[in-house]
Amino acid sequence: MFTYKIPRNLSSEIQIGARVIVQFGRKKILTGIIGKVHNKAPQAYEAKPILEVLDERPSVNPLQIRFWAWMADYYCCHIGEVMHAALPSGLRLSSESKIQANPDFDRENAAYPLDEREEKILDALENQKELTYEDCEKILGIKTVTPILKSLVAKEAILIFEKVQEKYTPKVETRIRLREDLAKDKNALEAIFEQLLGKEKQESILLKYLRDVPVFQKPELNEKGLDKATILEEGDSESSLKTLIKNGIFESFKVTVNRLQEVEPERVPAQLSPSQQEAMSQIKAQFEEKQTLLLHGITGSGKTEIYIQLIQEVLESGSQVLLLLPEIALTTQIVSRLQEVFGSSMGVYHSKYSDNERVEVWNGVLRGRFSFVVGVRSSIFLPFDSLGLIIVDEEHESSYKQFDPAPRFQARDAAIMLAYFHQAKTLLGSATPSFESFYNASQGKYGYVELKYRYGESELPDYFLADLGADRRKNLLKLDSTRLLREKIQEALDKNEQVLIFQNRRGYAPYIQCEDCGWTGECVQCDVSLTYHQFTEELRCHYCGYKEKIPTSCPACGSTQLSTKGMGTERIEESLSLLFPEARMGRMDLDTTRNKYGYQRILDEFGSGQLDILVGTQMITKGLDFGRVTVVGIWDGDRILNFPDFRAGERAFQQITQVAGRAGRRSEKGKVIIQTRNPDQDIFTKVIAGDYDSFFQQEMVERRNFFYPPYVKLVKITTRHADFKTAEKAAIALHREMAQIAVKKIVLGPEKALIGRIKNQYQFESLIKLDRSGATQTTFKEKLAEITEELQARPEFRSVRWIVDVDPS
Ligand code: ADP
Ligand code: ZN
Ligand code: ZN
Repeated sequence: MFTYKIPRNLSSEIQIGARVIVQFGRKKILTGIIGKVHNKAPQAYEAKPILEVLDERPSVNPLQIRFWAWMADYYCCHIGEVMHAALPSGLRLSSESKIQANPDFDRENAAYPLDEREEKILDALENQKELTYEDCEKILGIKTVTPILKSLVAKEAILIFEKVQEKYTPKVETRIRLREDLAKDKNALEAIFEQLLGKEKQESILLKYLRDVPVFQKPELNEKGLDKATILEEGDSESSLKTLIKNGIFESFKVTVNRLQEVEPERVPAQLSPSQQEAMSQIKAQFEEKQTLLLHGITGSGKTEIYIQLIQEVLESGSQVLLLLPEIALTTQIVSRLQEVFGSSMGVYHSKYSDNERVEVWNGVLRGRFSFVVGVRSSIFLPFDSLGLIIVDEEHESSYKQFDPAPRFQARDAAIMLAYFHQAKTLLGSATPSFESFYNASQGKYGYVELKYRYGESELPDYFLADLGADRRKNLLKLDSTRLLREKIQEALDKNEQVLIFQNRRGYAPYIQCEDCGWTGECVQCDVSLTYHQFTEELRCHYCGYKEKIPTSCPACGSTQLSTKGMGTERIEESLSLLFPEARMGRMDLDTTRNKYGYQRILDEFGSGQLDILVGTQMITKGLDFGRVTVVGIWDGDRILNFPDFRAGERAFQQITQVAGRAGRRSEKGKVIIQTRNPDQDIFTKVIAGDYDSFFQQEMVERRNFFYPPYVKLVKITTRHADFKTAEKAAIALHREMAQIAVKKIVLGPEKALIGRIKNQYQFESLIKLDRSGATQTTFKEKLAEITEELQARPEFRSVRWIVDVDPS
C-alpha cells in the first residue's frame, strides 16, 4: 500500500473502495483503490497528491479490501498484485499520451523558428483541441514523430499530457423506430400510407413493423424500437428500410445494451430423492454449528440438485451465493442446468469471457442484479457484500490453485476465508475429497455429510484391468490397445452406446527419437522433450510454446530412422479410427478447444449422438453427464500414477474415480477398462472397491511419517536466473539464511527443479515444512520477506527472481 495526499478539492469525493488516479514513480499513471484514510505522513517518501477520483460509488467494498490484505499476507505477495488479479482489466485504466497547444505560446513572435513539419502540427491543433501520436503520424505522413514533438515541447509550443481512459466500453446497438409524432397521430400515419402507395417494399416493411410494435396500443414498445435484423425479414430489401429512414418515417437511434443474455427460468428445482432429502437436512443441521462442511457424494449421486435447493433457500433469505467451479468451460453442462432454474438472475463469470463481459458481471453484483454467481476461481474477487453461502464444487480439483502469476492462491481455501469475513457458510462438494478437506472433516473441524448412492436406477460401474504386458506377450496388442478394451468398445458400438477414452497427454506422441543414435528432440529454451504434433507437422514445447518443423532426418547423425514414442490423444484418435472405421470419432483436449465455443461444439456433438467415441485429456473427466456413455477406457493407467509428488496416490485415486464416474449414469451399468502393465497395484484394488477411507488412512500414515500436508504446511521457494551459477549461488545463499530463522521448520533443498530450465531460466527449489500453528507461519513469512529483500540488495543477485508459493500443489 502507498500513501497519497488528498487534495482539498477532492476531499468530499474520497470514499474507501473508490478508484482513483495517481502518479506512480516519475512517469506512470495508475489506477488505485482507496484502502484507508489516515493522517500519518509516510517517512520514506514525500506523498504525492491524488489526481482524480473515478467513482462516485465505490467499485470495491471494505470486505474486499480486508480479503485482499489477508491474501497478500497469507500468500506472500503485494496487495497490488491481488488487486491486479481481482479487478477485471476493464476496470483498470490505460493511459495514452495526448498533445495539446500551449495556450501561452505566441506563434507570431516565437523565440525560435519553427520548421515546416512543426507548423503543420500547430495548424492541426488550431482545428482540433487534442491530438494523439497516431494523429500526428497521419498528419505528417511519417512513422517517427517523437523528435518533432520533442522539439515542439522544447520550444514551448505544445504540451504533452496523459489522458487516462477507462478500458471498459459499453455495448451500443442501433435501433429503429417509427418517428415519434407519427406514433401518436393516426391521421398522420394514414397520410404516410397514402404516400407509400405503389411502393410495395417500403409499405410491407412499415406494416410488419406495426404488427410487431402496435404503436397506438403500446407506445412504450415504439420507444424501445427494433433492431434492423428483426425488422427485415427474408426478401426485404435493406435499401427500402434506408429510404424509410431517409424520408423521416423511421428514425434510427442508439441504445446501450447488456452483453449478457437474458434467459428465463424454465423449471422449478427437482423433487429430491429420500437420500438427497436426508443429506439436505443433515447439511442444515450441521451448518448450525460448523462454518464449513464437506459433502462427500459419489459420482452421479445428485449433488447438483442439492446445491440448487440450498442456493434457492439462501437467496430467499436475502443473502448472496457464490458457486465455484474448477474450469467453467468444462462444466457448461452444470451451468445450463443451473440456468434452467435461475435464468439470467444468475451471473456467470467465465474464464473465456471477454473483459467487457466480466465488467458487466462485476457491476451486476455491485448493483444487485446478480445475487447468485457461478464462476471460476477469480470470482472470489467479485464485489459481494452479503454472502450467505459459498459452494465449492469438485473441491479436490487442482485447478483451484493459481500457479502463476502472484497471488498464488488456492481458491477453495481462500473461499473459506472469504466466507468467514462474510459470516457465511462454505459447502465443499466432491466424490473424491482432497485429503486436506477429508482430514479436517475427520478432525471435526468441518461438518461431514455423505451421499452413498447414485440418483435413480443407476449404479456405479464395473471395473476391468486389462494387462498390457500379457497381451503383448500373446501378441494380442493392436496399436497399443488390449483385446479387452477393443471388445468392450465393440460391444458398446454394437448397442449404439457411447465410449470415452481418457489419456492424460495431448499431441500425437510425447517425443520423437532417432533409432540409430538415440537423439530426441529437446526444447531449445527448456529442459524437456518436444511433443510430436502430427496434424500441424510440428514439434512443440508444452512449457514455453516453442515449435519447430518435424525433421525428416536426425539432426545429430543424419539417419532417417526417426520414430515416435508413446501415445498422445491425437495418435489414440487415429489408432481407434483404424480399429473401428465405422465409429464416429471426436477428440477433446487443449488443441481442439482453443476458441471460445470449442468445448461447447464438441460436447454438443457428443451429447446429441453425432459422435460414438470421444478421446480426451483430463478435460473429459470433469462433471460430464451423458446418459449413453457405458464404456470408459483409461488408456494408460500407469501414467496416472507417475506423478512426481507426495500427492501422486491421492491424485490417481481421484482421477480414475472421476473418469470412471462418467460411465453408466442412467440405467445401463457402466464398464471401466484400465490398461496397465502392472494390474496388481494396490491403488487399483482400492479404487475398484471404492474404498476411499482405507486408502486415505494408508496414505495418511506416510504423510505423517514424512512430514507432508495436512500434518505440516509447505512453502516452496523457487530461485530463478538466466545464469546457472548465479541461480545456484542465490539458492544456496537463501537456504543458509532460512536455516538461521528460529522457527519450527524443516528446510529441504535447494535442488535443481524437476524441469531445471524453462524459457532459458534456470531454477532451483527449496521446500520448507512448517508446523501448522498460525504464529509459526506468520513469523516465518515475515522473516522470509526480510531475507529476500536483503539478498536482492546484493549486486550479484539483483536480477535473481524469488518465487514464493504457499501451499503449493
Ligand atoms: P453429481 O453431481 O453428484 O455427480 P448430478 O447432480 O449430476 O450428480 O446427478 C446425476 C443425474 O441424476 C443427473 O442427470 C441429474 O439430473 C439426475 N438427478 C439428480 N437428482 C435428481 C432429482 N432429485 N430429480 C431428478 N433427477 C435428478
Ligand atoms: Zn540419430
Ligand atoms: Zn520450451
